[in-house]
Amino acid sequence: MSAQPAPAVTFAALPEASPIPAVLAAQLSDRAAGLDLFGRLKAARAAVAGRLAFTTSFGIEDQAIVHAIFAQDLDVDVVTLETGRLFPETHQVWAETEERYGKRIHAFAPDGLSVEKLLSEQGINGFRSSIAARQACCHVRKVVPLARALAGAEGWITGLRIEQSVDRADTRLAEHDRARNLIKINPLFDWSRQRVVDFVVKENIPHNTLHDRGFASIGCAPCTRAIGPDEPERAGRWWWEQQDQKECGLHVHPAGAQSAAIAPTARI
Ligand code: SF4
Repeated sequence: MSAQPAPAVTFAALPEASPIPAVLAAQLSDRAAGLDLFGRLKAARAAVAGRLAFTTSFGIEDQAIVHAIFAQDLDVDVVTLETGRLFPETHQVWAETEERYGKRIHAFAPDGLSVEKLLSEQGINGFRSSIAARQACCHVRKVVPLARALAGAEGWITGLRIEQSVDRADTRLAEHDRARNLIKINPLFDWSRQRVVDFVVKENIPHNTLHDRGFASIGCAPCTRAIGPDEPERAGRWWWEQQDQKECGLHVHPAGAQSAAIAPTARI
């Protein structure tokens, strides 16, 4: 039997005239900019009427956020993308997190037939052959499962920070993600890496032990390496590609997207 391609992923675009998510994002940024992490997440939960999802990859930022969600018992769906290529250390901190908080983190996995087709076309590590091949792998293993994880959500919480890369320099506390038709909330957008680390240590939050070995940003095992002291945080992701093209299709600013939020004037 031949493998069938996975259904195409589409997002309903908002009508151009609809101001509501953009206005809500701006209001949330105004109200929550001066709050700590706990307060920002609580404000996000109060501002978004429908389903609110948080996608974790178990990196240091995501561990800080999951702590603030579970510690307040917020009504937020904590989900992750089990790409099939994660580090054993990532599975370890995943298990430790579920045990620590007594909560299950919902995993979204890629479609099996699509993975089989991908492997038959490009081989087990074919993503190194070109940017297009890498993006094809990320599409099957990350982008399509993310679409399922966010289905029906009105809000999406992420661990993005401005300092992580030039691609993320315009990250705001709350943004209107027009392509996905939801409000994207980045409660650590203005935090430094050191502030995140200090928070995780102070709160005794489980962390991925790869961070102790020089891994700053942690994704799939074959596409992540440790970085040197002077390298940018995301230099260890897809290091064979150009430094300014380090996104996998999850976090994009599509044409027409609005960063309607009002950033606080004072950086932390
Ligand atoms: S990060 Fe690497 S292994 Fe993971 S989905 Fe993308 S290309 Fe594939």
